[in-house]
Amino acid sequence: GSDGLALLGSAPSAPSCPHGPALLFVKTSQGKEEGRRFYACSACRDRKDCNFFQWEDEKVSEARLAAREEYNRSHQPSFTHRQNVDRYKNFILLPLSKRRFCQECQQLLLPAEWEKHSDHQFLCDISTAQLKSPSQLLYPLENKKTNAQYLFADRSCQFLLNLLIDLGFRRVLSVGTPRLHEMIQSKASQEDFGVRSLLLDIDFRYSQFYTEDEFCHYNMFNHHFFGGEAAHETCRKFLYEESGERVIMVTDPPFGGLVEALASSFKKLMAMWKETEKEGQDNKEMPMFWIFPYFFESRILDFFPSFSMMDYQVDYDNHALYKHGKTGRRQSPVRIFTNLTPSMIVLPEEEGYRFCTVCQRYVSSGNQHCEICNSCTSKDGRRWKHCVLCKKCVKPSWFHCNNCNCCTLQKHSCKKTDAGCFVCGKAGHKRNACPSLSRT
Ligand code: SAH
Ligand code: ZN
Ligand code: ZN
Ligand code: ZN
Ligand code: ZN
Repeated sequence: GSDGLALLGSAPSAPSCPHGPALLFVKTSQGKEEGRRFYACSACRDRKDCNFFQWEDEKVSEARLAAREEYNRSHQPSFTHRQNVDRYKNFILLPLSKRRFCQECQQLLLPAEWEKHSDHQFLCDISTAQLKSPSQLLYPLENKKTNAQYLFADRSCQFLLNLLIDLGFRRVLSVGTPRLHEMIQSKASQEDFGVRSLLLDIDFRYSQFYTEDEFCHYNMFNHHFFGGEAAHETCRKFLYEESGERVIMVTDPPFGGLVEALASSFKKLMAMWKETEKEGQDNKEMPMFWIFPYFFESRILDFFPSFSMMDYQVDYDNHALYKHGKTGRRQSPVRIFTNLTPSMIVLPEEEGYRFCTVCQRYVSSGNQHCEICNSCTSKDGRRWKHCVLCKKCVKPSWFHCNNCNCCTLQKHSCKKTDAGCFVCGKAGHKRNACPSLSRT
């Protein structure tokens, strides 16, 4: 229970903003619902990015509805995906000297458009290699809370791809993982690479580089396909496992996002997979890697009890906190949650991971098996210690406070408060200000 917002879900009658159907929220205080329920944008946590707001019981006039529809239409991208695909075809026919990319508009330019962008910064001589790695060409939308684009370090991306190939998957539904998609696409354009990927992402800039069979403009907070029924069908087809090509979904959502909204969308994607299934797999779930920080473990398990958290630390390129430092390793809090059998997820021994035969899974080098808990208990990679009073293992920096009757930080104010942070559970700040999420 905490002060903040509670998500009540997506109602079938929900009004829409430019990002698809809005979600229903209610303010909470001390864990209790308080005040009127309202609809707000599903995708944007920053009101500056989308200020859609409507009380649940609000009467909206015909005029306002019409104005809203017009607004939503005018806030769609200037080119359609189809147009972007055609533009790309023309672009690759151009000689290198005429291939320009406008950095301000984040757009490939055709010569007839140069004039319009004449006072914008642009890149020249865009090579085929650059076109194959759009995540390097495009500016990561990291400042906007909404997109929070944190790109995999090459090492982590390569590890994920090798892992899923070794597990026998030949199709990857890449939900918010443009860099993994790009790695698969560029290998597939070379020879003898039997893996295919479909990217679902809200970042429409990617439609400049991929066809409708390779990219769907998608909102993972409300399961909205911007391309309508056709895009839905593309996804459905992709999930249909022809000739034994097994599918896995890999997702790396923005961490500030609402876990319940994500879980609800992922369940819908799982249901799509199930509907396309042939007989004999009645109780199976679509295999999935959900990449997310370890402190969300209990939240994710609430929604997906079949999941477990792997010790592998996912590293990022443009993330000061989460990548390897020059000297030694900075610990990344980001992990892989999966519904596959943990013992099958082989982690690299050259990075210190080892197999625990009792737990039947790979663990980080610092993660000691606790004889009392009978499990490898560390979540953050450091060696944790067992507290007999709490009857569990805790972080090495914690001590048992007799006042609070639990283990906690040395520095803490000795009073029970249940208004802790939604993310890390600690008191003194709200989820938005959580230091465990800070990404400077
Ligand atoms: N590590 C990944 C990128 C993760 S960053 C990689 O390297 O491939 C989060 C991704 O989710 C970004 O690509 C961002 O555009 C996308 N995203 C953010 N909000 C989204 C939403 N509401 N729906 C779908 N995708 C979203
Ligand atoms: Zn919106
Ligand atoms: Zn223990
Ligand atoms: Zn204790
Ligand atoms: Zn916190």
